[in-house]
Amino acid sequence: MNEQTKISLERAKELKSRIKDYIDIKDSIPKGIENENEINKRKEHILNTLGATQENWNDYKWQLSNRISDVDTLAKLLKLTNKEISQIKQVQSQFRWAISPYYLSLIDPDDIYDPIKLMSIPSYIELEHSQEDLDPMGEEFTNPAGSITRRYPDRLIINVTNECAMYCRHCQRRRNIGQEDCHRSKNAIKESIDYIRDNEEIRDVLITGGDPLALNDEMLEWIISEIRSIEHVDYIRLGSRTLVTMPQRITDEFCNMIKKYHPIYINTHFNHPMEITKETKEACTKLANSGVPLGNQAVLLNGVNNDKYVMRCLNQQLLKIRVKPYYIFHSKHVRGTAHFNTSVDAGLEIMEYLRGYTSGMAIPTYIINAPKGKGKTPLLPQYLISKGTDYIMIRTWEGEVVKVEDKPAVDIKSMIENSIK
Ligand SMILES: *Cc1c(COP(=O)(O)O)cnc(C)c1O
Repeated sequence: MNEQTKISLERAKELKSRIKDYIDIKDSIPKGIENENEINKRKEHILNTLGATQENWNDYKWQLSNRISDVDTLAKLLKLTNKEISQIKQVQSQFRWAISPYYLSLIDPDDIYDPIKLMSIPSYIELEHSQEDLDPMGEEFTNPAGSITRRYPDRLIINVTNECAMYCRHCQRRRNIGQEDCHRSKNAIKESIDYIRDNEEIRDVLITGGDPLALNDEMLEWIISEIRSIEHVDYIRLGSRTLVTMPQRITDEFCNMIKKYHPIYINTHFNHPMEITKETKEACTKLANSGVPLGNQAVLLNGVNNDKYVMRCLNQQLLKIRVKPYYIFHSKHVRGTAHFNTSVDAGLEIMEYLRGYTSGMAIPTYIINAPKGKGKTPLLPQYLISKGTDYIMIRTWEGEVVKVEDKPAVDIKSMIENSIK
């Protein structure tokens, strides 16, 4: 064996040891795809209890209009104690809840720490920290017209509804989620679209909510086609969690409609590998096959995914269903969600154990929102250690500190001129 091969084999052995901890643990992370049988059993139970059929289940309109939002039905479907029942009744007087039958089928009722349950079923803990703000982002102060939020030079958000297939317990826009579902009026949306038409620098429009896919195809098509008709808009983005909470929403009709208005991007919101199921995979495949690039905006949540292995697993699993991890958001301090908050160090540790350990494809940007709508701000572990006059010191993903030459660029134009003289 030559020296090069010997060194390469030695290095390969070392690299293997770098992920041994993850290889040992990864099978113990619950994944939707691997729990299909359990999920199917719970689905049967839900269908029987609600007196519904398989066909109903696959119809998003049934899923949406049969969201579970009363405690007595929920108690039949999950093993709730009397104490939990009375607590949910107290929470729901302040914070709305509803869960699609599909998303409910992902919950393991025997696991008191179930991450899906934590994200979807009201908990008494929400009533603690009631002094927290409801609008820390000051979104109400970045609303120049209609239902727009504008915080950036070339792009903005249009909010089209407050309805969702499931009301996340960690929702940062809780203040918009009233007790009633309410789509924005056609007039408010028209006003928003007029604003975009009048402001030529807007080249990227995000349609959001609530969940825009709570609207029907006809209404969505009207909004999308109106925005599409504005020449200076380069592309449209939809932000929807239905891919995760009600994947039945991604019908062939919807995909065929979307195809007419490319480029359209969809960003969704998976937080845990348990959310990646046969159905979500089907929905993502349909959209990807329809030419829609898919991105994921996870939120770092205490008790759900504040774990370097769970996050690595989530991001790897997402790529298998053709979703590119885009952002991990540091959770904001919003009333009723404080128990989900983590420290920034927790997020940095997750980022530390992504870079190098797994594909760059699986690495989103970790974002903290500056208060009062001052914008998304990326956070990274420190890789740039120091700067000299003609060098920098960097730290590699394995923690080695090395020196790298760093000089200003030469005057390339004058060099080109001199070379042709
Ligand atoms: C998040 C956000 C955007 C989009 O930001 P990107 O970094 O381009 O994804 C645009 N407008 C508002 C108000 C936002 O909060």
